[in-house]
Amino acid sequence: MLANMRNLLKEADSRGTAIGCFNATGLENILAVIAAAEKLHTPVMIQFAQAHEEEHLMTLDVIGPVMMDAARRASVPVGVHLDHAVELDYIRKALELGFTSVMFDGSDLPYDENILLTRRAVELARKYGASVEAEIGVMAGITLNNQKIAEDRSLEEKMYTDPKAARQFAESTGIDCLACTFGTVHGFYKSAPRLNFELVEELYRTLPVPIVMHGGSGISREDYRRVIRAGVRKINYYTYMAKAGGEAAEKAAAAAETPLFHDLACAAVEAMTKNAEEALQIFSAREE
Ligand SMILES: [Zn+2]
Repeated sequence: MLANMRNLLKEADSRGTAIGCFNATGLENILAVIAAAEKLHTPVMIQFAQAHEEEHLMTLDVIGPVMMDAARRASVPVGVHLDHAVELDYIRKALELGFTSVMFDGSDLPYDENILLTRRAVELARKYGASVEAEIGVMAGITLNNQKIAEDRSLEEKMYTDPKAARQFAESTGIDCLACTFGTVHGFYKSAPRLNFELVEELYRTLPVPIVMHGGSGISREDYRRVIRAGVRKINYYTYMAKAGGEAAEKAAAAAETPLFHDLACAAVEAMTKNAEEALQIFSAREE
């Protein structure tokens, strides 16, 4: 069933868990993530990023209705989210399709302009009953446009989210959650990420809205648990699930006399379901 991000976050906060939000770059990811969530009886979110369109992976027109349909059919609550949108017109397009939440990413913009446009995104989303995620600071790694692709995908401490600025930003925009930077990056990690748990705790105390972690795959089980305990309530997860799917397809292709695409896709869905299940199990585990 369709679910609103605001409610999903509220529930996660009261349980001390995080909601997993997985990228839908194709039908296979959607099938895998929803199957995993249904198996675990846990709420989940699926998201499409504007950058996927620019990378020619998929278009919102094609995948948006599929995401909505899959969410409505699911036996668990599913939020349908637009990830890293940089244009208000693009946000409107997702809202027209029925998306229950959108992310406006104005982190490339000067602070004041980011506030102004985020506020407009909130006004727009409210007309559709949808909720809004926003971002300040910089997330290194693959993201919405080429300028933001950091060469080494590493992050400097001075780029981490400043709690005071974040609070002011959240209060003056009316957003529902904020993507914060505290040591994770998009894409693959070249060396083990060093997360600043104290900063997450401080953000949790300071911010009036839940904290979102981007670049959420490739982190140890223990670090996930620590970061959730510190207050992260939404985790964006994709790269390592896509890797699991790719490796399974590769293995299936090597084993087949004549590799047929539908067989490779099935192998990929199976592996991605397992990967999403492992992630969701960690994100939705309550502290003993
Ligand atoms: Zn992101």
